[in-house]
Amino acid sequence: MRRGHMRRGVVLGAVVVVGALSMAVARPQAQPPGPKVIDIEKLKDNLYILTSSTPGNPATFSGGNVAVFVTDGGVVLVDTKLAGWGQALLDKVKTVTSKPITTIINTHTHGDHTGNNGFFGATVDSITHENTAANMAKMDAFKSDNTKFLPKKTFKDRMSIGSGKDRIDLYYFGAGHTNGDAFIVFPALRVMHAGDMFAWKDAPLYDRNNGGSGVAHPQTFAKLLAGIKGVDTVIPGHIPVTTWKELEEYQRFTSDLLAAVQGAIKEGKNVGDAVASIDLTPKYKGYRSERVKAAVEAIYAELKP
Ligand SMILES: [Zn+2]
Repeated sequence: MRRGHMRRGVVLGAVVVVGALSMAVARPQAQPPGPKVIDIEKLKDNLYILTSSTPGNPATFSGGNVAVFVTDGGVVLVDTKLAGWGQALLDKVKTVTSKPITTIINTHTHGDHTGNNGFFGATVDSITHENTAANMAKMDAFKSDNTKFLPKKTFKDRMSIGSGKDRIDLYYFGAGHTNGDAFIVFPALRVMHAGDMFAWKDAPLYDRNNGGSGVAHPQTFAKLLAGIKGVDTVIPGHIPVTTWKELEEYQRFTSDLLAAVQGAIKEGKNVGDAVASIDLTPKYKGYRSERVKAAVEAIYAELKP
């Protein structure tokens, strides 16, 4: 009986997560009419960021941070924001270059990072991790007629495209936010796009329906920190550009969060008491706790105490 209840709790939790994610994707339709404005920032040389990426205000939230890398052969986009923002995105890119968009790299499957793959058409080259390609194939945006917008190339552990100053390295180290999060490095500029593996300074969103894992996240991060050298600037999924040092701090945060949840489970706490007892903000200055509840619940569901 108790077991049945728990299972129902887990299933309901999953439904809530799916609901929240599909709401985030469906939001643009509920937007008040008005110009869709995306801001652009020059980061270094031929690399720009399309911002307006903070969730919360549906009128201004355009989806995750997009990297715009202008190469000799054309423009490479890392992520494509929410559906409906494609023209605003393209207009902003045109303010810094007349070159065409030739390549899309998606950090992961979510609609606020893949929403305009279709807008840029099936002729654009598109690359993502193999698990993300499989996750995207389950999305309505990539079904029936739209299967042609699915990524054309996938990679498993590592892939490089371009050469010299235009080289881009793609890495995969394991599950975390989903099971297909890629890290995109621009080695000549010492910059990395971390996607939603480092979305914000708050607990991560663990999308268990797409293979996300709060248990794996700290280990995946540790592999990343050991496996990538020569980066000092990090583009997070949703907050302003930050540093490799802050990424290292985020690894410790995810590790402490997991340890706190495991500790609560060991003490026999239920998930509600665990949520109430976990506060990492005294140790992590500038961090928020708005997403701790959802993350703790996801880790509880994963560990099934
Ligand atoms: Zn995401």
